[in-house]
Amino acid sequence: MGDLSAHFSKKEFACHCGCGFDQVKQELVAKLEKLRELCGGKPLRINSGCRCAKHNKTVGGAKNSQHLYGTAADVAQVPGISIDQMAKFAEQAGFDGIGKYNNRIHVDIRGCKARWDYRK
Ligand SMILES: [Zn+2]
Ligand SMILES: [Zn+2]
Repeated sequence: MGDLSAHFSKKEFACHCGCGFDQVKQELVAKLEKLRELCGGKPLRINSGCRCAKHNKTVGGAKNSQHLYGTAADVAQVPGISIDQMAKFAEQAGFDGIGKYNNRIHVDIRGCKARWDYRK
């Protein structure tokens, strides 16, 4: 049992710079639980959750990145599930923004639809 939901804990979403920013939105976590269920109940690894402005700059994040607001998460590819399939599950889970990358997907709750594919 995580401290945010059944399977997620604040520390998984904390900014990687060590600043302590981990104010992730509960709606995001609820949708991640749905995504986890759709992925067959396999654990989801959060590559990046919250980011302070400084860390967002360090990692080359978009200027107005949803990660700054605790409304986004990058989820590592689940072994045995393709990125396309994960993105489909993310649609079903009800995320607003869904981005495809080589080894992860980005999901967010920005309030309007956004789709991108940055795979190389
Ligand atoms: Zn930080
Ligand atoms: Zn992201």
